[in-house]
Amino acid sequence: MQYDYKIPRRQSKVITVGNLKVGGDNPIWVQSMTNTPTTDYNATIKQIQGLEEVGVDIVRVSCPDSESTANFDKIVKAVNVPIIADIHFHYRRGIEAAEKGAACLRINPGNIGSREKVLELVRAAKDNNCSIRIGVNSGSLEEHLIEKYKSPTPEAMMESAMTHMKILEDADFTNFKISVKSSNVFLAAKSYQLLAESCDYPLHLGITEAGGVRVGTVLSSIGLGNLLWQGIGDTLRVSLSADPREEVKVGFDILKSLNLRSRGVKIISCPSCARQGYDVVKVVAEVENLVAHIKAPITVSMLGCVVNGIGEAMYTDVGLVGISNKENVIYLNGIKDHKVSNEEIVEHIVSLVEKKAAELENQK
Ligand code: SF4
Repeated sequence: MQYDYKIPRRQSKVITVGNLKVGGDNPIWVQSMTNTPTTDYNATIKQIQGLEEVGVDIVRVSCPDSESTANFDKIVKAVNVPIIADIHFHYRRGIEAAEKGAACLRINPGNIGSREKVLELVRAAKDNNCSIRIGVNSGSLEEHLIEKYKSPTPEAMMESAMTHMKILEDADFTNFKISVKSSNVFLAAKSYQLLAESCDYPLHLGITEAGGVRVGTVLSSIGLGNLLWQGIGDTLRVSLSADPREEVKVGFDILKSLNLRSRGVKIISCPSCARQGYDVVKVVAEVENLVAHIKAPITVSMLGCVVNGIGEAMYTDVGLVGISNKENVIYLNGIKDHKVSNEEIVEHIVSLVEKKAAELENQK
């Protein structure tokens, strides 16, 4: 039996975002955001469909002007995931998006304006069965909070979130989640911790403006990983200056690493060394690419030799252990099964993974 650990989740309220339940013991949903012009709704739909292929659960779409919200319903109807309308500055865009089928309105307390405008948005959300995200960002905190705290601090982020939480609660509206994002991982983490202790609303996690794929992945893994490990977080977005599909893949990888979600093939592989029986780096890259479309939770180990290869293969669905520079041993469900030549490795592993995925599908 392999050592395992299940992170105890913070017990948050359950809200609805379209057809998804968010919070409580529901899955931690992976979110991303389109970067096409929303006015080009065909391009936006195509990008969302590409995100669906890699497993996205929720997608946010920017609504900078009335031309963007004019065709919002076309986007909502053409895709299978709930769509969040991203609202800054112009509260009317939120009303338009709610009327056109948005599942959630993301509002930024720092730039949405007066209490009356927020109340207008709450009315639109109520009338259209829409949730709200109070999306505090350290880069756009309210001016009076910057004056009070001198700079964005966890306490300032908290005050912004709590003020808007109170406005929504006073309007008898509780179908909302909250985020307190920052590119400063310490500021974001502390703000989320304070918020988690102060309310039981679901929290949307993000280290915003985290950078390109490599640095952004590291920063998000540290920041989000730390919070998730404490049981904090009900949805998340990995913010990367990259193809949005990368955000989804990294989001799932973070959750899979913490045993919080189990989508797709998880590959355990060694860095390789002079003992390797086959070209581990090349084979792993090829297999990873060829099994990326598989949604079933399958574990595959590919190690270059017997040093750690057998120990890992005993706990995976499909295991590959290099034994010489010609042959390798395949383990199935942790048991030694047969051999495969170096030339056939990639094709063979992919076919075993596909077979396992079909078996799991049939068991549903
Ligand atoms: S498993 Fe074998 S080939 Fe891979 S790094 Fe370890 S010793 Fe080297």
